[in-house]
Amino acid sequence: MKGRVFNFNAGPAVLPLPVLEKAREELLNYGGCGMSVMEMSHRSKEFEEILSRTEASLRRILRIPDDYAVLFLQGGASLQFSMIPMNLYLKGQPVEIIHSGSWTEKAIAEHKKLCEYKIVASSESEKFLRLPSWQGVAFNPNASYVYMCSNNTIFGTQFREFPDTGNVPLVADMSSDILSRAIDVSRFGLIFAGAQKNLGPSGVTLVIIRKDLVERAAKELPTMLQYRIHVKNNSLYNTPPTFGIYVCGLVLDWIEAEGGLPAIEKRNDEKARILYEAIDASGLFYGPVEKNSRSRMNVVFRVKGDNEDLEKKFVSEAAAAGLAGLKGHRSVGGLRASIYNAHPVEGVRALVDFMKEFERKNG
Ligand SMILES: *Cc1c(COP(=O)(O)O)cnc(C)c1O
Repeated sequence: MKGRVFNFNAGPAVLPLPVLEKAREELLNYGGCGMSVMEMSHRSKEFEEILSRTEASLRRILRIPDDYAVLFLQGGASLQFSMIPMNLYLKGQPVEIIHSGSWTEKAIAEHKKLCEYKIVASSESEKFLRLPSWQGVAFNPNASYVYMCSNNTIFGTQFREFPDTGNVPLVADMSSDILSRAIDVSRFGLIFAGAQKNLGPSGVTLVIIRKDLVERAAKELPTMLQYRIHVKNNSLYNTPPTFGIYVCGLVLDWIEAEGGLPAIEKRNDEKARILYEAIDASGLFYGPVEKNSRSRMNVVFRVKGDNEDLEKKFVSEAAAAGLAGLKGHRSVGGLRASIYNAHPVEGVRALVDFMKEFERKNG
């Protein structure tokens, strides 16, 4: 579509064009009700229908079992770093954490304030350029839960497998790879994700929680911070992010129209393969992440010798050529192409062509 760029932003990130078009089409008058979704009551029949349809789509796509609740909350993925220990920590039963980068670092900082915990695996000594291994970790059967992040948005690593934690609930931050592949929800106690990478616009936080865990928290916790309250009220205790939930629903419709997670995952594999092959074949660029740890969502790469001037030039010339958002996270520098579900294969091909041309001129 004219004027739109290939968007490699890490989040908020690209949305499927048909979703934006549908939202535009319905913007002023949703379903003939005479107003925008932004203007309607969250208690209206129309919005209740949007909410229940969105939840039903998500349950179908991810095959979420009936003993799990689905919540659409606010506060971002970052509020979950606190809500999780507040609600799920059991006194005297330290949380076990798999530490894989900046986002688990932030979660650890909140756990430090709220509960006892133990880091059972970490790749910090390898600068998080590979995934920590839990081979040989004897998980404590009395831990309150095991905490991990499935895809490390900043360092560009992604777990392909999840640990078997027995009866101890596994809690996963899936902010940057939710709905990018099929997962077995029943292996998790809680899954959460900020919507703005793979699910919709910012302002919505998805929480999928096994219902029995909801009752762990003290009723003295602030009302808005209790999962119990949000489950009991079906995400309608207070005004939820109505327009954001509506757009998430459109994204879920798009995923189903594309063929569901098997088709999405196949395309994600293809995009990552094309890009990593180009990086590995390049004389100018390299991928700093250990090969088996590489993310299919956030492809981190650098100019050889970590030449920052050349990286800067790459980012600005790419942007001028219609390839936006290729700067690495400010904390690590370098380059990063986020190629979430909605990013088209053509965008990845255009990036690879641009890299070759850049190498020819600057290599
Ligand atoms: C983006 C991101 C977050 C932070 O999300 P907010 O909604 O900004 O709080 C947390 N975890 C991961 C893995 C992320 O990619």
